[in-house]
Amino acid sequence: MTHKPRVTCHGPSESCGLFGIFGDDEAVQKTYVGLYGLQHRGQESAGIASSDGELIQCYTGMGTVGRVFRRESRLLTKLANPIAIGHVRYSTTGSNTPRNNQPLLSEYSRGQVAVAHNGNLINARLLRDEYEAYGSLFKTTSDTEVITHLIAKPTHVSKPDPLAHVLNHLQGAYCLLFLFADRIEAARDPYGIRPLCVGQTKEGSYVVASESCALDAIGAEFIREVEPGEIVTLDKRGLSSRFFVKPGSVTPAHCIFEHIYFAKQNSRFFGENVNEFRKKLGRRLAIEHPAEADVVTPVPDSGTSAAIGYSQASGIPFDMGLVRSHYIGRTFISPSQELREREVQLKLAVVKEAVEGKRVIVVDDSIVRGTTTRGKIRAIRQAGAKEIHMRVSCPPLRYPCFYGVDFPTKKELLAHNRDLEQIRQFLEVDSIGYMSLEGLLSCAVLPDDHYCTACWSGKYPIPVDTAMNKFALEHYQMHMFDDRPPTDE
Ligand code: SF4
Repeated sequence: MTHKPRVTCHGPSESCGLFGIFGDDEAVQKTYVGLYGLQHRGQESAGIASSDGELIQCYTGMGTVGRVFRRESRLLTKLANPIAIGHVRYSTTGSNTPRNNQPLLSEYSRGQVAVAHNGNLINARLLRDEYEAYGSLFKTTSDTEVITHLIAKPTHVSKPDPLAHVLNHLQGAYCLLFLFADRIEAARDPYGIRPLCVGQTKEGSYVVASESCALDAIGAEFIREVEPGEIVTLDKRGLSSRFFVKPGSVTPAHCIFEHIYFAKQNSRFFGENVNEFRKKLGRRLAIEHPAEADVVTPVPDSGTSAAIGYSQASGIPFDMGLVRSHYIGRTFISPSQELREREVQLKLAVVKEAVEGKRVIVVDDSIVRGTTTRGKIRAIRQAGAKEIHMRVSCPPLRYPCFYGVDFPTKKELLAHNRDLEQIRQFLEVDSIGYMSLEGLLSCAVLPDDHYCTACWSGKYPIPVDTAMNKFALEHYQMHMFDDRPPTDE
């Protein structure tokens, strides 16, 4: 068995973003804008599949939404309306190659279907082995293709509700958009691990998206979240719903890390706004880990709201000691260690005047490997800070995620096998304070047992084979001369 080496990255990476719209004369163009709004969820590839009601067309490419569709801008007028789905990808299963781009368009006995997936199927290897044993051929190494084989299986096609039947075969985290020629079906796994919501444009078209910030991007109104275990259909009759598991039969396990790190501050899911949740975390952090200091500064962007909360609760002034350049791509898609280190320096610059001669509290949302954080701490020290107190708005990350977030291996996590004093010494800070798990959950609006906390607690809500990794479906390396991805804009 040959596995590709794992790409080294500094931060956790999101799995994907989904967007779909039905019955709109500008469905393709709005999908393009919606995907821009979800770009933070994946920059490896982007794609749109659309239908005129009879035929589905699909275009995908490597890189950010802007890069993919700037190269082929005429596609935005050539792809047919009025039904479209789109996808931005970061690979959590399968390599970053063009053949794994989504939406994934296939044909089977009932016509065409394009699939877009956010999450990670933990039984993908098992399902694929079964199909391969009977001679099925796979053209990708992504877990999503297994779903298309399940859809096409003759014994599944003949079921009263084939899609519900197929979804009951899947285990793990998934939000899925299925574009059939005449409709969109949107489904969310029974645990509701990843977010998915529905909205409506001013013109009355229904929209579905991973985060409500994508609805904002096209001026659509948020209606509600798709429920765990629910299938929402967008077709010419409007919006309808059914469940493929009995509602309430499964305790949800929403990924609380979505709220802490990934999501846009203006998004709303799991019952609350992301910015408000992060400010609550900061206020709680100030109570749990106070420090005497002159200024509170965030590691932007995802640490900013928590730093505001910390400043509010402590009364210590907030200032921007670090500023982010938005013209540099996310570090984790850099092609080499050398370039990655340069990118980090360019991405987060120190504002000397904000930290010089001061006792500084630095607030971040999480620490993964710690090397990037240490680089920033050194830079703040070099700029003249007298003391540096590190505060983190989630507990120490100690376990990998199998539900669609690409953490490094357990051994590479800073908090793995290190106590707090060892972490403090590694980061070269004067003090360190992590949010407690109890404190984190106390800030959330849903009951404690409605969230997944496995990356801190090691308690996985859906049993996983911990030997599985991102490249589990690549038992043979496919030697194709793929167009390697551009790094970013
Ligand atoms: Fe989210 Fe962590 Fe659970 Fe993964 S393990 S779903 S990142 S809370």
